[in-house]
Amino acid sequence: MRCPFCGHIEDRVVDSREAKLGDTIRRRRECAKCGRRFTTYERIDEIPHMIVKKDGRREKFDRQKILTGLLKACEKRPVPMSKLEEIVNEAEAYVAESADRERPSSAVGELVMNRLKTLDKVAYVRFASVYLDFKDVREFMDELKDLLKARRK
Ligand SMILES: [Zn+2]
Repeated sequence: MRCPFCGHIEDRVVDSREAKLGDTIRRRRECAKCGRRFTTYERIDEIPHMIVKKDGRREKFDRQKILTGLLKACEKRPVPMSKLEEIVNEAEAYVAESADRERPSSAVGELVMNRLKTLDKVAYVRFASVYLDFKDVREFMDELKDLLKARRK
């Protein structure tokens, strides 16, 4: 949303609620540049499904972006395209069924990682290493050890 005061296009949603009649959502937004707050009303069918990043920024859910990440992780791996499409569909459905029309990027990433884990361990590790935060790394390393152990058997 463009800030009505300074014209900046980045903002943070500080409050959002559905209006009583149901098909509009009122959002209080705070401009990332000048810090002033403004209100927007959006009709539900015009509102895209959003992904909430760790720093609170939102971006439109983008199938292509998830697919690109998956393709990169699955490079030269024996994973059929149809399986990747299934994962993307599942991620999309997960975001679409949210009452708030948004999901944290961490939850979407986790869903994708879990599916990938059952498909191809190498692809899973690649995807996770791009995706995960430093704070998640220790947990990830523990899991990696388990995977390696399992392979040795
Ligand atoms: Zn502004």
